[in-house]
Amino acid sequence: MVNELELKKVKNEAIKNHIPIIMDDSLEVIKDIIEKENPKKILEIGTAVGYSATMFAIYAKEAIVDTIELDVERAEEAKVNISNIGLKDRINIIIGNAVEILPNIHEKYDFIFIDANKGKYPVFLQEALRLSHKGSVIIADNILYKGYVMSDYNLHKQRTAVRHLREYIKDSTENENLDTKIIEVGDGLAISYVK
Ligand code: SAH
Ligand code: MG
Repeated sequence: MVNELELKKVKNEAIKNHIPIIMDDSLEVIKDIIEKENPKKILEIGTAVGYSATMFAIYAKEAIVDTIELDVERAEEAKVNISNIGLKDRINIIIGNAVEILPNIHEKYDFIFIDANKGKYPVFLQEALRLSHKGSVIIADNILYKGYVMSDYNLHKQRTAVRHLREYIKDSTENENLDTKIIEVGDGLAISYVK
């Protein structure tokens, strides 16, 4: 049983503390996809305090979620949150840099969610391709980054992120093994089905 009150608390605390959790509109789209595909193994890159991982575990009732978080404090907070919500048997938090952790994973996932540092999105896509199979879904959040990705006027500090996000869009839409749609919901989602 999921503790709904704890879940609400986790969401509200995250918002209060300016932790960039997934936006409600994006979650709606993902909910539909997860309910349709019914993934059994989910991989998330970027746990933060465990909100999206929790929602995925709720939508995919039989799924095991492996989720990677670089920030030790956040990861520890996520562990407490997930335990309080009642999902600790289905969500595994892996602490460390996904760039280093992913190459050591040798499993296949049905659903992969990319939501960590934007500068590494193209690398995460390559790893996601290796860890997926025909029929897997790979989703990248924040792909339009507040509209900066579609605009010419980017501040210097956003420029590197924008360059890598554009690279992700190019790679995922041009890859013949992927069927990719970029949708303007929330902060932008790239949704790729592995052919
Ligand atoms: N998916 C979460 C939000 C994630 S915010 C939700 O929607 O609820 C992005 C997180 O990615 C941050 O907590 C940040 O610490 C983490 N992160 C950034 N770079 C990372 C990396 N290279 N490996 C793992 N986690 C990373
Ligand atoms: Mg995000």
